[in-house]
Amino acid sequence: MRILTGGINHESNSLSPIITGEDDFVVFRGNEIIAKGMSPEYSSTGIIQTLRSHGAEIIPTVLARAVPNGVVSAAFYQKIKNEILDRAREALKEGPIDGICLALHGSMKVQGDLSGKAADEVSAEGDLCTALRGILPGVPFTAALDMHATITPDLLEAVNGFAGYKTAPHTDCLETGEKAAEMLLASLGSGRKLYTAYTGIPMMIAGEKSETAAEPMASLIKGCLSAEKQDGIQAASILLGFPWADSKYNAVTILVTSFEEAKNTADRCARDLALSFWRSRGDFTFRTECYDSRRAMAAAYEAVAKGERPVFVSDSGDNPTAGAAGDATDLLEAIIATMDQADGLPTPLLYSGFYDAEAAAACIRAGENAAQDITLGGRRDTVNGRKIPLRVQVKKTVRDFGPYKSGLALVSYRNLLITITSKHIGFGDEDLLPALGINAGDYCLIAVKLGYLEPCFRRIAARAILASSRGCSHEILENIPYKKVRRPIYPLDPDIDWTP
Ligand SMILES: [Zn+2]
Repeated sequence: MRILTGGINHESNSLSPIITGEDDFVVFRGNEIIAKGMSPEYSSTGIIQTLRSHGAEIIPTVLARAVPNGVVSAAFYQKIKNEILDRAREALKEGPIDGICLALHGSMKVQGDLSGKAADEVSAEGDLCTALRGILPGVPFTAALDMHATITPDLLEAVNGFAGYKTAPHTDCLETGEKAAEMLLASLGSGRKLYTAYTGIPMMIAGEKSETAAEPMASLIKGCLSAEKQDGIQAASILLGFPWADSKYNAVTILVTSFEEAKNTADRCARDLALSFWRSRGDFTFRTECYDSRRAMAAAYEAVAKGERPVFVSDSGDNPTAGAAGDATDLLEAIIATMDQADGLPTPLLYSGFYDAEAAAACIRAGENAAQDITLGGRRDTVNGRKIPLRVQVKKTVRDFGPYKSGLALVSYRNLLITITSKHIGFGDEDLLPALGINAGDYCLIAVKLGYLEPCFRRIAARAILASSRGCSHEILENIPYKKVRRPIYPLDPDIDWTP
């Protein structure tokens, strides 16, 4: 049995001005995927391990991954797409291919038109899968998806079976890959065809309102798990979509994959899950207290004064791991406006941080212990960011951090410590602060460009406050001037009536 695998993984924020290019991606080609790309945090790893343990021959194509960011450069996407297609054609010359199993995100968008269609009408994943389908028309095709996938008609048409993450924050990527591969193997082993039931719900939702540890997501996910216990059902997934992209396909989608003979059960499960989701629409709320930036800082200082520590403030409107630019300054301005209070804190106020290649490079060049004039902010996100001049002391620098080889700088300004990255890698990585010699638990107040706290921060947070700051991942969707989203849609049209 020969199975083609690989994947593209990117969540593209179309509100961000950044174009995500080749430098932002980590790309594994062919056997490199197996030699270097087997992180336990990738769904592709679950796919490969499962195929291998069943004795399948793996045809690795390309695995391209980047941290969420602005839409992807058309040239880079075409290059990766062509490499995947070329590898499929070559493999076909060597012998028959029995199936395809890909690791995808589902909300990757490419700059400009794609296959003659406007970017808001087609996802990169839909385009890629349609092209692969053209080369391998009859074979079973399954895919692992991120929970924030936006489902487009061409993707549904090309792929037979889908498995989406069931956790947010995403801690089940590996298991989701395993499921996608198991479905494919089950279909190949039994000769039974896969079928996917689809129900789109006219609703958008911010990730911070849909953590799976909290209600109503916890119960809705349980609903998926019980659907999966029904005869013939392979996978039941809730795909939340990605609200920081403007597309006519923005929606929450239920996908239930079954064998074809269980089609009616799959249709019924998809409808029932959609109805439960819709009925819960009013119950999706921020799990943590949420204020604008100034009130968030006031609440944080008050909490520290009461002895709570560490207190976290999420600069959620400029969350690079939701594709925002990482240099909006709403929260930084709120901190600078209250710098006297920050100076009175028992430890420095730690702010992680800013994506600013120029400031990071200047600090790395200046070296540790040097004083350096920088401006922070407003270089990419000129709508929500102002260029703020700061004379800082460089505390520590790191070159080539992590898989994306980012430069890092830790700088101080009065009683404020700021981390700066030279690449758009976000601030949720648990190794980032330790690489700068920082143990977050030693600080009383930590501001972080992140939405919900990643497990490494949640574990130690005495209090978590969400700042609904201005930026390209602004949490209050009603404030975002969408142009392409199909109306009516909840919550933009709160009184909309809908039945599946
Ligand atoms: Zn996601």
